[in-house]
Amino acid sequence: MKRRDFLALAAAFALPRAGFSATELALPNAKLTMLSDGNLTLPGDFVLAQMDAAKATAMRQKFNLLADSYTPPCNLTLYQDGTRNVLFDVGAGPDFMSSAGKLDAALDAAGLTHDDITHVIFTHAHPDHLWGLLDDFDEPKFANADYLIGQAEFDYWTNPETVNTIGAARTTFAAGAARRLDVIAEQLQFFNDGDEPVTGITARLTAGHTPGHMSFILGGKALVTGDAISNNFVAFEQPAFASPSDQDPDMAAATRVALLDQITADGLAVAGFHLPGGGLGSVTRQGDSYTYIEG
Ligand SMILES: [Zn+2]
Repeated sequence: MKRRDFLALAAAFALPRAGFSATELALPNAKLTMLSDGNLTLPGDFVLAQMDAAKATAMRQKFNLLADSYTPPCNLTLYQDGTRNVLFDVGAGPDFMSSAGKLDAALDAAGLTHDDITHVIFTHAHPDHLWGLLDDFDEPKFANADYLIGQAEFDYWTNPETVNTIGAARTTFAAGAARRLDVIAEQLQFFNDGDEPVTGITARLTAGHTPGHMSFILGGKALVTGDAISNNFVAFEQPAFASPSDQDPDMAAATRVALLDQITADGLAVAGFHLPGGGLGSVTRQGDSYTYIEG
């Protein structure tokens, strides 16, 4: 990175208030705010199950991870351009894990109500990203919002065969996604790789974590990764490592390698759903390995 670019990036990451973690990023005609939905509570080997035990232990030590549990944060991205309040994903809601589903408190703290959200764009249809869609009456929570999802992602989760083919570990994911997407099926708008579902927001197909997973480039400056890059340790240090936390581990690894190459080549800031420190950061490259820098 050139010094000029570094200074521009550093200025873009200026914190709104001293002492706060990196939760806001100014873009040319918009701003990003990260909203916490809480965290997941997962087994300690969720990401590293297929890694050699000694190497996994070394990685946990390097990144201060516990062996018996893995509790990644869940950070939703809010994009505001003066007229639009665009929310990427809707969080887990009350029915997935008690440690997640805290979005309402974060919206409240940001001075927003559900009715203020003009667009909801989904990265993918996993529980921690979709299950916060419905209120206690099974109505969509964001009554004034346009709902947008990648065509391939919608087709996969609403295919009646998916619940039978996805494998036992993810059956509830399939049933839960189909039920919720069905509620908004009539009002959903669809987009494909390279489309601009909302002005200033370009979709980039990042399949592998799920079959139609989408990431988004905002104003050419920042990338909403969703779960295409879903942790700050092995996903950066060894992006080609195939993790069982992705539905198609090999495809997800190839996607991640290409995406990190693009992020560093284009100097994009990163808004990561499960990245620490509030979820905003930058990336540096060391050959085939990368480092995530919070803030
Ligand atoms: Zn996730």
